[in-house]
Formats: sequence, C-alpha cells, structure tokens
Amino acid sequence: MLTHDDHIALALSGGKDSLTLLNILVKLERRFPRSRLTAVSVDEGIEGYRDEALLLAAKECGRLDVEHVTVSYKELFGTTTDEIVETRPDKTPCAYCGVLRRKAINKAALMVGATKIATAHNLDDEAQTVLLNILHGDPMRLIRSAPVLRDVRGRFLTRIKPLCDIPEKEVVLYAYLSGLEFQSIACPHGAEALRNDIRVFLNQMDQRHPGTKFTLQRSAERLRELLIESAPVVELNDCERCGDPTPHRLCEACIMLETVVA
Ligand code: SF4
Ligand code: ZN
Repeated sequence: MLTHDDHIALALSGGKDSLTLLNILVKLERRFPRSRLTAVSVDEGIEGYRDEALLLAAKECGRLDVEHVTVSYKELFGTTTDEIVETRPDKTPCAYCGVLRRKAINKAALMVGATKIATAHNLDDEAQTVLLNILHGDPMRLIRSAPVLRDVRGRFLTRIKPLCDIPEKEVVLYAYLSGLEFQSIACPHGAEALRNDIRVFLNQMDQRHPGTKFTLQRSAERLRELLIESAPVVELNDCERCGDPTPHRLCEACIMLETVVA
C-alpha cells in the first residue's frame, strides 16, 4: 500500500478508526524519513456532532505533532449536510454526504500535495460494503471499493485502506488500550438503514460462524479480479462545472449539488 517516500493524506474524522490509524501511521512514518503524513478533516456542517470530533482530531494531531488541515462543505460547496437534509427530506442524507466527503477529501489531499489518500475503513466496514453493493444490484461497484484503488489513467489519487483486514473489535481494543479520546456519539442523521441491517446480520453470522467477515472480504477480492478483467477502461472528461475527472458531462457531486443548492 505504501512506499518509503509517500506523502499520505489521512482522512481523519475524530472517530476511533481514524484516530487509531493516525497513531499507527505516525509510528510508520517516523521510520521513513522521506515519507510525510498530513491529516485532513472534513466539516460536513452537522450541528452538535462534527464539532466535537474535529476538536478531538485537532487535539490528537497536536499531541502527535502531525500537520492537520480542515475543509468544510460550506466553503467548498456552499452548503452543509444539515441544510441538504432540510432541502431534501425525501433523500437519504448519507447518499449526498458520502459523495461530497469523498470529493472534499480529494480536494484537501491535492491541496497539501499528497501522493495517496488513506481511509480508516475496517474489516466490518468492508464486509458490509461488499454485501451492500450486491444487495443494491451493483456488483461492479466492488471495483471502486477495493482496499487499494489505483487509477490506471492517473487522474485520481490512489486510495488505500490499511485497516481493511482488522475487525472493528480489535480497532476498538487498540483505541482503548492506547487511551485515545474519540467521538462516541452517532451522527444525528443516522447511517444508511440497509447498512445497519447488514451490520446486525454479519455480526450474528460471525458469532455463529467465526471468520464470515474475512471470507466475504476474500471472496470480494477474487470477484474484483474477474470484474476488472471484463470492465472496460472508461475515458474521463473534465466536469463542466468543477473540472474534476468524470466519465460524464458533470461529476456525481455537481449533479447532486444542482438539486440542493439554488
Ligand atoms: Fe454524513 Fe451519513 Fe456519515 Fe452522517 S452518517 S456524517 S449523514 S455519511
Ligand atoms: Zn463537478
């Protein structure tokens, strides 16, 4: 996933996973003098939720002496998740919020000159995403959720998920044993309902049949290899609004923003 001279932009939310990964990457980075680590946080504009997480993220970066950059939806897109929820109560907040967060992290990573983006998805997140993509009827999405996502066209920064094989319980254990102070309250807009059901199902399966989450992750790896072979490399255009690479006329984020920003 990493080379000795990478400049990693770590997506730092202030939750247990990203604070754990921050602590691990700091230890690694110190062993490689030519590497660099910058933490990037995103303020989605969710009152009473994100403020606490951002404070915890800043505090930990200060303690570890890591450069920390924060960008907000308001300054980048002219709106916030709270405002989107108000404008489009008919839509799932996470559908908008997730797309905008990916774009915001990408922008922040390019701004600091990073060579790779690291996110703290753990094994549980990954196994849930595999089932979610299949239940949404979109198995090709498995390609985009790979633990290492390299763009052969060189238009997108490589994204890596160093904790993808680590079960959530072990991440929690690491965070507690390291005395990390992390955000414990959940987002008031809630996580996607289907993902929640999948989480419960996978936890039950893993308890009755230990190793289920690993097996699912391994199956997804094999499926990805087959899917990549049959998937054509799509040409990319520049989004007519923001200039970011997209296979369409407008990128996904700009299409979404059209429906929520007047
Ligand atoms: Fe955004 Fe959904 Fe995450 Fe809340 S749970 S921060 S709305 S993606
Ligand atoms: Zn765009």
